[in-house]
Amino acid sequence: MTFSLHGLAVSGGIAIGRAQLISHALLEVAQYQVREKDVGGELQRLDEAIAAVAAELNALRAEARNAGSPGELAAFVDLHAMILADPALTDGVRALIAERRCNAEWALVQQMQEAMAQFDTFEDAYLRERKHDIEQVVERVLRILQGKPKRVARRKATEGDLIVVANDLSPADTLQFKTLKIGGFVTDMGSATSHTAIVARSFDIPAVVGMREARALIQDDDVLILDGARGVLIVDPDARILDEYRLRKTTLELERSKRMRLKTARSVTLDGEKVSLEANIELPPDAERAKEVGAEGIGLFRTEFLFMNRDELPTEDEQFEAYRQVVKSFPGKPVTIRTLDIGADKEARALRGRGGGYASSNPALGLRAIRFCLTEPQLFLTQLRAVLRAAHYGRVRLLIPMLAHVQQIEQTLALIEQAKAQLRATRCKFDEDIELGGMIEIPAAALMLGPFLRRLDFLSIGSNDLIQYTLAVDRADSSVAHLYDPLHPAVLFLIGKTLQAGRQAGVPVALCGEMAGDPKLTRLLLGMGLRQFSMHPAQLLEIKQEILMADSSRLGPLVTRLLKLDEPEKMRELIARL
Ligand code: PEP
Ligand code: MG
Repeated sequence: MTFSLHGLAVSGGIAIGRAQLISHALLEVAQYQVREKDVGGELQRLDEAIAAVAAELNALRAEARNAGSPGELAAFVDLHAMILADPALTDGVRALIAERRCNAEWALVQQMQEAMAQFDTFEDAYLRERKHDIEQVVERVLRILQGKPKRVARRKATEGDLIVVANDLSPADTLQFKTLKIGGFVTDMGSATSHTAIVARSFDIPAVVGMREARALIQDDDVLILDGARGVLIVDPDARILDEYRLRKTTLELERSKRMRLKTARSVTLDGEKVSLEANIELPPDAERAKEVGAEGIGLFRTEFLFMNRDELPTEDEQFEAYRQVVKSFPGKPVTIRTLDIGADKEARALRGRGGGYASSNPALGLRAIRFCLTEPQLFLTQLRAVLRAAHYGRVRLLIPMLAHVQQIEQTLALIEQAKAQLRATRCKFDEDIELGGMIEIPAAALMLGPFLRRLDFLSIGSNDLIQYTLAVDRADSSVAHLYDPLHPAVLFLIGKTLQAGRQAGVPVALCGEMAGDPKLTRLLLGMGLRQFSMHPAQLLEIKQEILMADSSRLGPLVTRLLKLDEPEKMRELIARL
């Protein structure tokens, strides 16, 4: 039976293919004791569930073979069958049931967690990630143990895109999909500017978050249509719907390839205003994609992603090589390297137990970004030295996240001087005159810009956090996502004020939050005076298209009038008509 689910659109495009369920949320099961005389029955229940899953996997394998499906699916099935047959998992569960007289579900989850913890210690990243496969196998067995009703037979796909369906994923988890060839991405949790969504957007594939129940309602290999622009997922579509979406997909792909022609076009408005379009990246290989779409530089390199999915911190040399790789991809062009913005939803295993927001009950307000770095001077100095060294090979700008206090700038400046002195002492080449900038993403900074403008060479507005902190809406919490509003008059007031103050002081101001990559907001931001946009490479050409069609001399006065309004609905209406 066909049904559709709705969520928050993160990244446009259409994917048609099959569901690949990914588990991450802890499988919650009840724990209870069984009577001595029932232990045998409990063990038998487990064996029957395992046998049923083995049969399910066999059937899946045969189905895949008959349909001549691509290799990935068969590989998944084989791997899951191996895990299921491995005594390392099942013997432990049996022992727990027999010795502790606990129910099979609970024993299974305990054993799974122990196995997953062992996988975490593997050096090989690929092997480490296989823990998610254990989770999926265990989930299949649990479903049988818990007697979840078999769902109505659905159409199953054996070819087409793999569409990942997950409950909730951390940005670090999401990052790992970058190396896999997937066609689309859906999560139950999250909001459109959570870091998970930002990473998903950088894959340049359709993505929808905040689906709420997708993970529970969808089964592996269900046929899915994912419409990333509208935030819709259609499950088990009939032939007519499939045809319609195939047509839409082809049209979108055509439009996209036409936009590639704009790659070398100068980004100027109709009235001749130059607008710089730079790219946001997470990892050095992303710089290639940024080049492919003609980015004029890197406006934001989120270096914290270099620290994720690993057990030890990257060394100075390793960081230096990563930064230099990006700098070399953009000869003569600006590369903005932001210092470690770890904490809140961005977690690095190697920093666990050292603050970084994880232990806090309110991590978005906790020890993240520059607050964390200033409590870890050695770690911060290592990164500063690596950036200063890479800056010798090109035009690097150093960007500091989450500044709110003048002392934070002063302390950062002192540490930069210290890093320079250390490099001088070892006769290491570095850039003495590196430019220093600050993210304006805390309302206090936007309201009190004077000290920032006097001490810094440039500013970059982080609209994602600026909205979060202005409206007191956790950007990663889907339950308040409807209140996360980039067009709230208070947010626009702070952005407008920052742009104006920068202009008056002669300090360049960029915007590198997700607003910069939203084509519906391009005219508004141009009218507010923004001339430096930084966004994910996937969005760049669409924004350029908007800029080429805009007349900033007409937009300026219109937007000035519009910003005087304080009724959001009226404002929204006028923005749509700009
Ligand atoms: C922002 O807050 O807008 C920003 C660009 O930084 P991040 O999304 O990494 O917090
Ligand atoms: Mg931010």
